[in-house]
Amino acid sequence: MTNSEKIQSIDKEYVIHSYGRFPVALEHGENAVCYDFDGKKYIDFTSGIGVNSLGFCDKGWVSAITAQASKLQHISNLYYTEPCAMLAKVLCERTGMKKAFFANGGAEANEGAIKAARKYSFMKYGPGRNKILTLVNSFHGRTVTTLAATGQDVFHNYFFPFTEGFEHIPAGDIEALKAHSDGVCAVMAELIQGEGGVLPVDRDYIQKAAEYCRENDILLIIDEVQTGIGRTGSLFCFEQYGIMPDLVTAAKGIGGGLPLAAVLFGEKVEEVFRPGDHATTFGGNPIACAGALEIMKRIDDKFLEEVSKKGEYIRERVMSMPHVVGTAGMGLMIGIELEDGYKPADVVNAGLKSGVLLLTAKSKVRLLPPLTITYDEIDDGLKALGEALKEI
Ligand SMILES: *Cc1c(COP(=O)(O)O)cnc(C)c1O
Repeated sequence: MTNSEKIQSIDKEYVIHSYGRFPVALEHGENAVCYDFDGKKYIDFTSGIGVNSLGFCDKGWVSAITAQASKLQHISNLYYTEPCAMLAKVLCERTGMKKAFFANGGAEANEGAIKAARKYSFMKYGPGRNKILTLVNSFHGRTVTTLAATGQDVFHNYFFPFTEGFEHIPAGDIEALKAHSDGVCAVMAELIQGEGGVLPVDRDYIQKAAEYCRENDILLIIDEVQTGIGRTGSLFCFEQYGIMPDLVTAAKGIGGGLPLAAVLFGEKVEEVFRPGDHATTFGGNPIACAGALEIMKRIDDKFLEEVSKKGEYIRERVMSMPHVVGTAGMGLMIGIELEDGYKPADVVNAGLKSGVLLLTAKSKVRLLPPLTITYDEIDDGLKALGEALKEI
């Protein structure tokens, strides 16, 4: 048995089988390169599903979190801490949002936004105006409520009863939105459906939806759990859509590898939560926030421009690879469409042999490399991806 196989067999015996894991156990990494327990090298085109914004073990991030860990690791939300306050400040200043609530993951952030939208409407219009519209093919998380919000039937099994008050409308159809707007307090959407197959939602539709929502005092919740924190070439993707949401959620990339999420509150909703309305024990953890502050410091305009350029570079090269018929996405959130009959999972498995970590999203191969990936790392990863595509 190899070292990797030993770890896999213990995991298989003792960890609940709710994940379909690839047969690799990873040991350490640096930026976009990592190694398994037997010393095999991989280029990481996944960043842990868009989480390791600065790659593996970035020096600035490691020193920020270790410095905070040796000062104060946690004290609860009954007290003030500096990293939490400073992170909220920088997120608001750079987005035009007014306040932040910190949570631990994407689903929990979305739950917070849903609660805020329902309370806003309740306080203003009383009970009954509590419906939330989400888009067909969306993904908003795995809690019972965010599963209800998720617009994909495959997620609506076994766990009944789901939370009431969600309806799914087709993306791009403004008339459907209007037709379903009775009793609606909020519309919630991703701008690029990530798990749904790296599908950008039409910009014109989003702008019209935002306008309709504003006119009817329906809150617009943008789920930037995957698209946020520089991933698409702007700090948040909504900037490129030319809209100003009422609530924005961020998670995956915000902590750079530590569990952290945020709900950003716009002007309309900044006073909606009063003490006792919403809370979470670990939310705004000082270590996670210290790491996030380092990430925010690094993501300046030049950094974002690089994200866009690297994304274009990758997409251009991928287009000339075997079995590729198209690419989608923005910045370093990339979907690769394959010729009919070819399965993205086969590419991922072939990639493990040729030395690159890849993701899938529905019918596409999905790339979410660390935002700090170098061109040398990109070239090595693309070489291995090309070999994988030849293999299938
Ligand atoms: C991953 C994801 C979620 C869920 O985040 P978790 O941290 O897994 O709870 C929600 N929305 C979107 C758009 C996501 O990509």
